[in-house]
Amino acid sequence: MLNIVLFGPPGAGKGTQATKIIEKYQLVHLSTGDILRAELAAKTALGQEAKKYMDKGELVPDKVVIDMIGLKIDKNHDASGFIFDGFPRTTAQAEALDILLNKKRAPISIMLSLEVEKEELIKRLLGRGKVSGRSDDRDVSVIENRIRVYNNETAPVKGFYEKQGKYRAVDGMGTIEEIFERLCKVIDQVRN
Ligand code: ADP
Repeated sequence: MLNIVLFGPPGAGKGTQATKIIEKYQLVHLSTGDILRAELAAKTALGQEAKKYMDKGELVPDKVVIDMIGLKIDKNHDASGFIFDGFPRTTAQAEALDILLNKKRAPISIMLSLEVEKEELIKRLLGRGKVSGRSDDRDVSVIENRIRVYNNETAPVKGFYEKQGKYRAVDGMGTIEEIFERLCKVIDQVRN
């Protein structure tokens, strides 16, 4: 199995690149942000609970997202691999993911970390906010809080995968195609 963690701050382009990667490598895309927004739209109890955190740019509690991802992994038992997007976002989530994947004897193959400058992130998120209808992309203070939470709680996840020899930094500046090519180059190295 090819299991990829696509990592990077809000606005780094994870969703855009994930869409291209799943098409090329036939992987199942698991985006916790997308799953949470779907729960919200369906007005489930989980969605209502998550909204409180998402609106402020805070992280949804680990247990909620870990259980949610566990269910999705089980549901896709015939997948040839997964791309995790927006997850893990804390070291506790990374540890839980290892346990879930070890049960399937299919560990994470690689963590691809998109590196983008802060000014560019804010520009991209505000641009998305104008068209996506995502309220968390419209408010600069919520965006800045998401970047702060990323630096404090999520950036340490790099170290978790670095220790396992799986961390790869990829330049996330440039055109969508240029970045996609850089990502494919690294993926092809681990596949062969
Ligand atoms: P971004 O574009 O900021 O990376 P996402 O679409 O991945 O955002 O997620 C939107 C919001 O959903 C986050 O700000 C957070 O509140 C919540 N969320 C998504 N994934 C997780 C996670 N793995 N752990 C905790 N909260 C999460």
